Amino acid sequence: MEEFDVIVVGAGIMGSSTAYNCIKKGCKTLLLEQFPLPHARGSSTGHSRITRKAYSKELYANMMPEAYKLWSELETETNTQIYKKTGGIIIGKANVRYSEYEKVLKELKTEVLSLTENEIVEMLPNTNYYGFQGICDPEAGVLFADKAVKSFQSAFLRRGGSLKENEKLVNISTGSIVKITTTKGIYNGKSLIVCAGSWTNKILSELDLKLPLNPRYVKVCYWKVKDGLKKSNLPVLIDVNGVNYHGVREGVYGTPPEEYPDFYKVCMHGGKDLSDPDFRDGSDDGEEVKIISNYVSKYMPFLDSRPAIVETCIYTMTPDEDYIIDRHPNCNNIFFGAGFSGHGFKLAPVVGKLLSEMVLKQPTTFNTAPFSLHRFRNSTSKL
Ligand SMILES: Cc1cc2nc3c(=O)[nH]c(=O)nc-3n(C[C@H](O)[C@H](O)[C@H](O)COP(=O)(O)OP(=O)(O)OC[C@H]3O[C@@H](n4cnc5c(N)ncnc54)[C@H](O)[C@@H]3O)c2cc1C
Repeated sequence: MEEFDVIVVGAGIMGSSTAYNCIKKGCKTLLLEQFPLPHARGSSTGHSRITRKAYSKELYANMMPEAYKLWSELETETNTQIYKKTGGIIIGKANVRYSEYEKVLKELKTEVLSLTENEIVEMLPNTNYYGFQGICDPEAGVLFADKAVKSFQSAFLRRGGSLKENEKLVNISTGSIVKITTTKGIYNGKSLIVCAGSWTNKILSELDLKLPLNPRYVKVCYWKVKDGLKKSNLPVLIDVNGVNYHGVREGVYGTPPEEYPDFYKVCMHGGKDLSDPDFRDGSDDGEEVKIISNYVSKYMPFLDSRPAIVETCIYTMTPDEDYIIDRHPNCNNIFFGAGFSGHGFKLAPVVGKLLSEMVLKQPTTFNTAPFSLHRFRNSTSKL
């Protein structure tokens, strides 16, 4: 039976970053993935994610400089471009959420440029964002998601890590040594870290624990830029006003053509509840695509109003949309990182670092108390 210091379950961006950080600290580490790699069934799939220093919560804005530094180190180690600076604009109709971004950035003394409606339309030509105001985040840009996942995995392997794909964890025996059974074998680990995205509760239910996680499927839509309106150097966009989705205002975000030339990505930060991530596409009625289509027709006449490509991805939401990074309340060698609520990718290097520090009982680079499971003590139920 193979023995490891740390076993990490889930080779999405969080598990891959965590395994990399563990091996970097000298732990003999196994990274386990249920599907053949790469796969498109989790949350880390696709070519691009937005990164930005602008956050409406100080908790995350504080960690972003470290994330930028760690992404850059990974780029150097793997000789791969992961981050592309495009600049970004965060806009809204002077509502509370929009001004919170500005407030947090000013408090952290991060560069912040206010934008008038004319400046917004200048940065994003042929749009109808009249009546909007915004801020510019010059450091915002795109992370090449698939390359980022692959880079963590290849750096992990080069440092001597073991990666087993197409091998699903099916059973856990707790104790001072954690014994896991997979579809192909049995492994012992001094510690276990679960980074299983929307599958997390399927695994933790084995350990009599249920996190307050709500998986949602979200639509990723690409819209063709109309002939004659093509422009390079477009920024990433976040419209906090967004759209009305079942009585709640959900933000809308856009990224310049990266996956498919001349196709701008415009998506809603929300989607339908998903009862089982193993049956992701079974109940799609197309409602979300219609809502985004109406938004594109109204504000973005430089795009065709019908999406050219629609893909599906999964968010795993927590009630307060803050991450959960903690250890099992009754098993002090079992840890988890979950509930990244649709905004985890950019901070994956920091999350992996924090989990590796927790496993090794080292002081953590940032205070992890805001991510503790304890904050839900009234809503967390034992199964
Ligand atoms: C459409 C979309 C857009 C997004 N945009 C942004 C953005 O612009 N900026 C940003 O910062 N974040 C963004 N996010 C959020 C970010 O992508 C996620 O927070 C992040 O990818 C979560 O990664 P994860 O590793 O936790 O989950 P996953 O990528 O789902 O990884 C979990 C892995 O665990 C594996 N697994 C599960 N169960 C088992 C088992 N029993 N045995 C073995 N393996 C198992 C799964 O197969 C999977 O590979 C976006 C997410 C989506 C869906």
